[in-house]
Amino acid sequence: MKTVIVFDIDGTLTPPRQPIKKEMVEILNNLKIPFYVAAGSDMELLEEQFFIPLEKYGFINNFEAFISNGAIHYHCDYSNGCNLNLSSGFKFKNHLGNSSYHFLCDTLKKTLSIEKFKLPKEIQIFENRIKDRSSMINFCPIGRKKTENKSAKSNRNKFVEFDKKTGFREGALNYLREKLINLIIQKDLHITLGGQTSFDIGVKGEDKTKPIRELVEKGFQEIVFIGDALYEGGNDAAINDYIKNWDNKEVRCPVKALQVNSKSDDIDNSWKETIAILKMNSWIKS
Ligand SMILES: [Mg+2]
Repeated sequence: MKTVIVFDIDGTLTPPRQPIKKEMVEILNNLKIPFYVAAGSDMELLEEQFFIPLEKYGFINNFEAFISNGAIHYHCDYSNGCNLNLSSGFKFKNHLGNSSYHFLCDTLKKTLSIEKFKLPKEIQIFENRIKDRSSMINFCPIGRKKTENKSAKSNRNKFVEFDKKTGFREGALNYLREKLINLIIQKDLHITLGGQTSFDIGVKGEDKTKPIRELVEKGFQEIVFIGDALYEGGNDAAINDYIKNWDNKEVRCPVKALQVNSKSDDIDNSWKETIAILKMNSWIKS
């Protein structure tokens, strides 16, 4: 059977917001079947988290990467160093047009100054709360630093705890979906929870189903997606929707979605669950 794996990156191949570990790179080098990656983040974040460490830890194969929530496609060739070649891109700002784009950014900013969405004082707020990732907008109420140091990580954990306890993001997600309903319909947008701290705003179809649709067209009989955010509202959820809405009655849907971090209390180690899945299915050369 012609099988391919599509990996989410953050929380699936790496610990959250941390570089990929050597152990995982060795596993990727030894996969028996081809793989793609489909990541929520953009190149600015992924360079240090994924693409550079791959070379550093001796990765030597090829794969396709769909980043910025699937909308930007690179062919990645590591046979002679790290060579990333852009295959196709999509610009969110052009799709929206100037006035809608500014209306959206303005609405996001204003949301954080509404009384019920103000963060408690013990949570620090960094720069870059609204980040244009070219093909999508990432909105992170606590902002972000390029790489996470100890204090940023502890701040982030504080936010994650706060969010779990109060349902902050769920509430803000519902508010934004309501507030932006006209724009969502007109411009075919989707808003989901991104990672552990943010929201992703993108265009339907310009998401993680993009590599999946390409692989279906290529005729793969088994396309296995592995991700840590397949739950409703998560940034891998588009894959589940794709499977649910499969309407070709003559052909079985070849896509299968596997959730890591299923217990959701040990997200730092969810990438190890990915390795366990690969071993269980004998997808690694022995
Ligand atoms: Mg993830």
